[in-house]
Amino acid sequence: MRYTGLINHYKDRLPVDENTKFISLGEGNTPFIRLENIPALLGKEVDIYVKYEGLNPTGSFKDRGMTMAVTKAVEAGSKAIICASTGNTSASAAAYAARAGIKAFVLIPEGKIALGKLAQAMMHGAVIIQIKGNFDDGMRLVKEVADHAPVSIVNSINPFRLQGQKTAAFEIVEELGDAPDYHCLPVGNAGNISAHWMGYKEYQQDGKAKKTPAMVGYQAAGAAPFAKGEMVDNPETIATAIRIGHPQSWDLAHKVEKESNGWFDAITDEAILAAQKLLTEQEGIFCEPASATSLAGAMIDIKNGKIPEGSTIVCTLTGHGLKDPDTAIAQCTNEMILINPVMDEVKNAILNNM
Ligand SMILES: *Cc1c(COP(=O)(O)O)cnc(C)c1O
Repeated sequence: MRYTGLINHYKDRLPVDENTKFISLGEGNTPFIRLENIPALLGKEVDIYVKYEGLNPTGSFKDRGMTMAVTKAVEAGSKAIICASTGNTSASAAAYAARAGIKAFVLIPEGKIALGKLAQAMMHGAVIIQIKGNFDDGMRLVKEVADHAPVSIVNSINPFRLQGQKTAAFEIVEELGDAPDYHCLPVGNAGNISAHWMGYKEYQQDGKAKKTPAMVGYQAAGAAPFAKGEMVDNPETIATAIRIGHPQSWDLAHKVEKESNGWFDAITDEAILAAQKLLTEQEGIFCEPASATSLAGAMIDIKNGKIPEGSTIVCTLTGHGLKDPDTAIAQCTNEMILINPVMDEVKNAILNNM
């Protein structure tokens, strides 16, 4: 049967019924890839899989939540949605609103959103409101204005977002035949780590998995409220998708940490970019900087033994590398070769670089 998106696929496990009109772009069902070269470089016996969420319709996992949030907003008669965003939520909201024929208002931090994400929000026709502030300011404003204007909030404080996003855990259990030992994610608002935990618990309770994983949340060192144990007022990181100092799912994520025997940690921007590059060069997988935080953290904890040998580890790659071409190109040192359009010069370029 044709795959028509995660709501239809998992409709028995989602808050929809036969009268609900699904707003879908075919999201979910993303590649689950076993890393072949990086474990050997670490010199450890571990099985690492990546869930490549960058291959969702708008290039990030946000689509899993947005299909649900927009479906339910439309079902409730909403004509407009609103979100604060570090970029990917705005791209996703803009696309699903276009699909549904409703309006999207997106609040983004001025000058701090990756180019690809801005292009998406603009192309899909969202009303873009730049704020002279950061994501946390935007989130505060969105919550306030929703009481004064006819708009539905589609940030991850919308419970339907987490419902949609829990399906990623279902897909992983179906691929592995059980839950992994460790599931590592980049953490911003901590909606996604909470949603995955919901999914794993649901599958375990229903006998579809024998166990649940330890949930491990990695943050960028300059924006690491969970690792620090307190809110951060001026978050800074090259990984703009997780440049968040006041996470919305603070209590929920602490519950996940405790229940799953997981932990939070902070990763330097340097280690994040190195992991992004390693993944592209060694495995052929291009994710955005924030996404590489999961692998960067996992590699550190595998090396120091916190994640023991023999473990099965899943790292979520939350968004596609093409989202942020500026950061990608800035870290590449490979020289481009310029030649005249003659065979000899091509030949020399090849032979000199074998
Ligand atoms: C939104 C986002 C995150 C953070 O997810 P939270 O649910 O806010 O913790 C991580 N990476 C990317 C690429 C994102 O777009």
